[in-house]
Amino acid sequence: MLQKASQFMRQANLINGEWVQADSGKTIDVINPATGLKIGTVPKSGGAETRRAIEAANEAFKSFRKTSALERSKLLRKLHDAIMDNQDSLAELLTIEQGKSLTESRGEIGSSAAYVLWFAEEARRTYGDVVPSPWADRRILVTKEPVGVIAAITPWNFPSSMLSRKLGPALAAGCTAVVKPASQTPYSGLAWGALCEEVGFPKGVVNVLTGSAGEIGDEICANPLVKKITFTGSTEIGKLLIEKSASTVKKVSMELGGNAPFIVFDDADIDRAVEGSITAKYRNSGQTCVCTNRFFVQAGIYDAFVEKFAAASSKLKVGSGLDEGVQQGPLIDGKAVEKVEEFISDATAKGGKVVAGGKRHALGGSFFEPTVIANATTEMKFMKEEIFGPVAPVFRFETEEEAIELANNTEFGLASYFYTGNLGRAFRVMEGLKYGMVGVNEGLITTPEAPFGGVKESGLGREGGHQGIEDYLDTKYVCIGGL
Ligand code: ADP
Repeated sequence: MLQKASQFMRQANLINGEWVQADSGKTIDVINPATGLKIGTVPKSGGAETRRAIEAANEAFKSFRKTSALERSKLLRKLHDAIMDNQDSLAELLTIEQGKSLTESRGEIGSSAAYVLWFAEEARRTYGDVVPSPWADRRILVTKEPVGVIAAITPWNFPSSMLSRKLGPALAAGCTAVVKPASQTPYSGLAWGALCEEVGFPKGVVNVLTGSAGEIGDEICANPLVKKITFTGSTEIGKLLIEKSASTVKKVSMELGGNAPFIVFDDADIDRAVEGSITAKYRNSGQTCVCTNRFFVQAGIYDAFVEKFAAASSKLKVGSGLDEGVQQGPLIDGKAVEKVEEFISDATAKGGKVVAGGKRHALGGSFFEPTVIANATTEMKFMKEEIFGPVAPVFRFETEEEAIELANNTEFGLASYFYTGNLGRAFRVMEGLKYGMVGVNEGLITTPEAPFGGVKESGLGREGGHQGIEDYLDTKYVCIGGL
């Protein structure tokens, strides 16, 4: 274990200010995807531990809800500073458990801190309204209040920043939290517990526990003390959580799967489009919900684009995230590699042509070559399913209308990208895409200032922007009469 990373590595649950093991004493092994070796363990908790964490959060809420917006803002600013002061240690921990390159990990930790800072600022701007009254003797006030205890369930691909977008607004609003990080990457989530403790959030305000997803999830959904669930993960589990939490009518925010299109028109700057394609496809080895799943390239530049894109993809340096200069780390595990192989064999059986990569990397383990597949068709699996790996299928199209139709032909609607040099087209396509986010001549668009989120089966709610705190607030209408 590296010196820096171990500083924030906690192998226990944080419940009501205490670092504790699971009731059963059972643990889960955590594996470094770059080496296949065990890093450590975390508690395998279940329903009982979850109930205690929820009760602790509920108790803490009684006083935390009364803190001033300015106090919470100051605490969040301290949290931001603590994250940035420890950026290298937190990045190392993230790379060791997740696999991404150190450059990407530093970027993710920086992004986590940036969300915290944004919500430290937004904490002071949860304005209500004074509404003109229809009655001469009454006044109408509309105020915003924290919803109460929230539960955050987060995935393994961005174990730090996905939590920052949830904890940031929750704490800014005055909510308390129960957090369940993914079992593959629990340490970055537990580190948030350590950091929140260090900067002075009172005990019980942030509780973090690891363990059986099903048991923890069931308790969160059924427990009436939890007022909101915020989840990032698969559409399948998101639907399950919405269904299960219906019995207690909770607010839900869902950041679910994507099937991002990346359209390149004949009038685009090809080099810029290739550069954007590399970022939009291979970030985190293709394991992000906003990674391009389908490239649509207009016939006139198809061959030129494929050639340049394949060449750029082949140049990416694959290796352990800890090694200098590495641009693509391993996939999260062996199952992810098998899934990627299935997509490739399905495509080649249906006429797809591998023009870059196409197989497991010589490094072994779960390393995979950045792969480009030309001659993609709508019959291939990746037209409908999320790849979540470094495979780039490139489809050919003729007209603008066809491109929009192909792009929208999915039940998902998270991120989309297109490249054009024509202003009129930019507006027509931007308005035609049924997506929560659109990058025009840009392949990397996430930032705390903007609302991140999807439409259709990609989710509900927005993270970031001034919208990001709304989901953590209830609106209260107060009518003052007898004036
Ligand atoms: P992925 O396919 O990216 O692993 P999942 O949706 O399976 O996405 O996982 C995202 C998060 O949801 C993880 O923290 C995981 O442990 C959690 N999770 C998985 N199954 C359930 C469940 N039944 N209830 C609650 N959380 C779950």
